[in-house]
Amino acid sequence: MYDVDKIREDFPILKQKMRGKPLVYLDSAATSQKPYYVIDAIDRFYKEYNANIHRGIYEFSERSTEEYTESKELVKKFINARSYREIIYVRNTTEAINLVALTYGNKVIEEGDHILITEMEHHSNLVPWQLLAERKGAILDYVKVDMNSYKLDLESLEKELEKKPKIVAVTHVSNVLGTVNDIKYITKRAHEVGATVLVDGAQSVPHMKVDVRDIDCDFLAFSGHKMLGPTGIGCLYGREEILEETEPLYGGGDMIMTVEKHSHTWNELPWKFEAGTSNIEGGIGLKAAIEYLNKIGMDNIKQHERELTEYALKRLDELDYVTTFGPRDLSVRAGVISFEINGVHPHDVAQIFDSEGIAIRAGHHCAMPLVTELTRIAAVSRMSFYLYNKKEEIDRAVEAIEKTYKIFKGDDLYGRLR
Ligand code: PMP
Repeated sequence: MYDVDKIREDFPILKQKMRGKPLVYLDSAATSQKPYYVIDAIDRFYKEYNANIHRGIYEFSERSTEEYTESKELVKKFINARSYREIIYVRNTTEAINLVALTYGNKVIEEGDHILITEMEHHSNLVPWQLLAERKGAILDYVKVDMNSYKLDLESLEKELEKKPKIVAVTHVSNVLGTVNDIKYITKRAHEVGATVLVDGAQSVPHMKVDVRDIDCDFLAFSGHKMLGPTGIGCLYGREEILEETEPLYGGGDMIMTVEKHSHTWNELPWKFEAGTSNIEGGIGLKAAIEYLNKIGMDNIKQHERELTEYALKRLDELDYVTTFGPRDLSVRAGVISFEINGVHPHDVAQIFDSEGIAIRAGHHCAMPLVTELTRIAAVSRMSFYLYNKKEEIDRAVEAIEKTYKIFKGDDLYGRLR
């Protein structure tokens, strides 16, 4: 039995009040809260064995090196990579994608080549490819989103694949629509035309089992802070054969094997891509986060979020002045609900929510091309769920929506903006 109240006990922040009211945290798609298990692991590192990794020949350095390396082993298992050599630590999803664009992308993309992304990408899986295309004189193409089903338009995918893109970069789960893309199918089709595939796993890896061998992607990017870990640690998974053939971006300590006055040799994977002192605390925190997620079980988390999403959509459907965006088929829907209260600006919505102690997000959600398509004001409100949320919190959100509508009813938002 999934005991959400017991899980909530593990998260100290959930006992806090915001604006004097019990906190309702519905912004986990932006960043997740952290359990004691993770906070304590980081605390122990600094109190009991803080030392730099790799080079120290003393007990504490050996222990921190061990913990850090074990965290890579755990990440490897978590996403079913073949070897920890395929696990590169970076700051976040954004850095992971930029790293691919600046190394592998720079190597393979030439003038006139096509790079394919989709209309539902977060800016972090869009701007790095724009920059690469600009650098190389390449062409950036988009798979369309079907605005009725809120899924990727597969005919558009086929049309774009005819251009034989060298790189296909696509999000697994949309942070605005909650759409879960059929990533295995996309990867298969992209490989059939010879493309290398990067998957943005920022919104999938924290919420469901993601198996890189099953989906068969070449790169997977995700962030520790969205999956109970600390900020400043993220991961780039890369297929070993590709990483072996790719030059590192940064030079410095740790990424080298030998250095002479005018030459050097690279260290083995994954260290070749990790110059300088690593985010040791981050690696240790991420290890604890994954242990905690494994203890609860990714399938249980997915099921819990699905129940919350179903309940929230049902409650929101009862309000005829609320529009929700995203697929209705729960088998392809994650726990993200963007919504609009007719005629009310999302920032006003978020402010009323805040006064009620409820944290949601409002704006373009770093997906301006998509959100501009969704609404004329290029902004929506978004609630997003995680393992610690409960139905009573959704009821509180619905009450806040009702309150917001009462306050702003009759306010001609679009009229004001004209
Ligand atoms: N991709 C998606 C789909 C996201 O939702 C986010 C975070 N909102 C990112 C990428 C970027 O993550 P980060 O800020 O941790 O780099």
